[in-house]
Amino acid sequence: MSISSRITQDIEQACHTLKAGGIVGIPTETVYGLAAVALNEEAVSRVFRAKGRPTSHPLIVHLSPQDDIKRWGVLNSTADLIAKTFWPGPLTLLVPRTRLVPDWVTGGRDTVALRIPAHDMTISLLETLNEAVVAPSANRFGRVSPTTAQHVVDDLGDAVDLVLDGGQCAIGIESTIVECTDSSVQILRPGKVSAVEIAKVTGLDISMTDGPSRAPGMLLAHYAPSALVELCDSLTGAQDRLEHYAARGTPAEILHHDDPAIYALSLYDDLRSADLRGSEVVMAVLPPLGGLGAAIRDRLTKAAASH
Ligand code: AMP
Ligand code: MG
Repeated sequence: MSISSRITQDIEQACHTLKAGGIVGIPTETVYGLAAVALNEEAVSRVFRAKGRPTSHPLIVHLSPQDDIKRWGVLNSTADLIAKTFWPGPLTLLVPRTRLVPDWVTGGRDTVALRIPAHDMTISLLETLNEAVVAPSANRFGRVSPTTAQHVVDDLGDAVDLVLDGGQCAIGIESTIVECTDSSVQILRPGKVSAVEIAKVTGLDISMTDGPSRAPGMLLAHYAPSALVELCDSLTGAQDRLEHYAARGTPAEILHHDDPAIYALSLYDDLRSADLRGSEVVMAVLPPLGGLGAAIRDRLTKAAASH
């Protein structure tokens, strides 16, 4: 099969490929995932190989709204409330796993990460498949996440069997990861669902943590384009740097959007485009901390740490 003909809108074909142990790029509202049937060890190992991802980095299990969550994880009353409020949606719950969940999904940990994504095509796929899938972002390990079907093919080429084209991802950055293994609630990765929203629903203080030990794979360096990413506190600061690079003849560009939703939506495509344009430096203007701003800052900081 040629690389471009790997992109399809045919849910039956995607379902058939997954059932046969294949790996399929799937659209979600956050970023495109690289899916394999979670209980198929060989298929999951193909996901790790295609991405070049260390097998110690556990995977998020994606379920459909019809699935019985209790088969996979143990949800306390707070986790249950969070799930009922935010699913389907851009939030991943980290909870104690059940005996069904294999070590090859969790990297041997006794917790499992679960999410019901809010994307009609992928929900139809999961319902037709009637199996849960793992679905890390469909890009090479450490690089920029994909937000279109074409990005997936550009990154993974022959390594992916099929990509289900569900258009551009509506949010554009990865899910909020919330740990709910005891009475406290911690955010391990910021995303569209903010700490303030979770606090409002649960009535609890929500802490943010940056613990690689709690969430292996939450690396300091990640989401990196080939260009050097430089963080700027203001647009005028970025413009000064642009002049500095222009004087030296270094191809450089500014990354900035006033609206955080648009910033998130276009972030990864902007970073990919900067590489395609041959920019050597991207001056990224940090958005204000509130809401999506925290998530965008997190991704930019990690992209900047990669050089
Ligand atoms: P992603 O790369 O977007 O698929 O997100 C996966 C990340 O979720 C991992 O790199 C971990 O940081 C976190 N995660 C997933 N499953 C677990 C788990 N069982 N225990 C701790 N962290 C997890
Ligand atoms: Mg990823």
